[in-house]
Amino acid sequence: MLTIGCHLSSAKGYRAMAEDAEKIQANTFQFFTRNPRGGKAKTIDPEDVKAFHAKASELGIQKILAHAPYTLNACSPDEKVREFAYLTMTDDLKRMEYTPGNCYNFHPGSHVKQGAEKGIQLIADMLNQILCPEQSTTVLLETMAGKGSEIGRNFQEIREILDRVELQEKMGVCLDTCHVYDGGYDIVNNLEGVLDEFDKVIGLTRLKAIHLNDSMYGLGSHKDRHARIGEGKIGKEAMVRIINHPALRNLPFYLETPNDLSGYAAEINFLRSAWKES
Ligand code: FE
Ligand code: FE
Ligand code: ZN
Repeated sequence: MLTIGCHLSSAKGYRAMAEDAEKIQANTFQFFTRNPRGGKAKTIDPEDVKAFHAKASELGIQKILAHAPYTLNACSPDEKVREFAYLTMTDDLKRMEYTPGNCYNFHPGSHVKQGAEKGIQLIADMLNQILCPEQSTTVLLETMAGKGSEIGRNFQEIREILDRVELQEKMGVCLDTCHVYDGGYDIVNNLEGVLDEFDKVIGLTRLKAIHLNDSMYGLGSHKDRHARIGEGKIGKEAMVRIINHPALRNLPFYLETPNDLSGYAAEINFLRSAWKES
């Protein structure tokens, strides 16, 4: 079965997210660990987590994906901003142990004129301070569109970070289809070639999740504007090839398209019908 869900609001807790997933026939979902702009996280209610686990097993909800606030910048030139990233990520990973064995995705960061090399080093340094052998969570680096001074604009930069992390087995990658297309990887006309390159540079075994988004702008535009499935430059056919590709078809897919719940339900329904068994 296709593992697919979308980004859901975490405002009402874990159980409410499982209920939303049920409404739209999702068997996974993504959520922000706290307000996406940062700030303090709500305390986790163990009763809510218990209810979530019961509901999740009833519905067959697979791996869920937590997303760090997008304001988090592990390679900011400002020490206070890096400190905030460190504290937030540390706290998030502690909270993730309430729902063990899932993934935590974050945007590597923006180097802001320090250069990519310095940025990559700061990100790896922070991961080396935060990751610990006891954690059950896999931390994912998201492939980025290359807007401004974003790190992770190409596969090489992701590989560079991974290479410098000591606890390799705690790390993975989340590929965002809008971002890689924006970054110049032609997943429309050359999906095979792009995945070959991913495999050579990073290794497909590192790939743990897909953000499935269409893109409002064209190949290499570095804009990062998500579109609904089939309403952007990537298009429906390419999306269907992506979810059916042998190297991707069994990964969890997360929609981050501009939609309300009913719009997500329609996309999930379409993608499920387009996914070929075996
Ligand atoms: Fe993201
Ligand atoms: Fe994304
Ligand atoms: Zn994006």
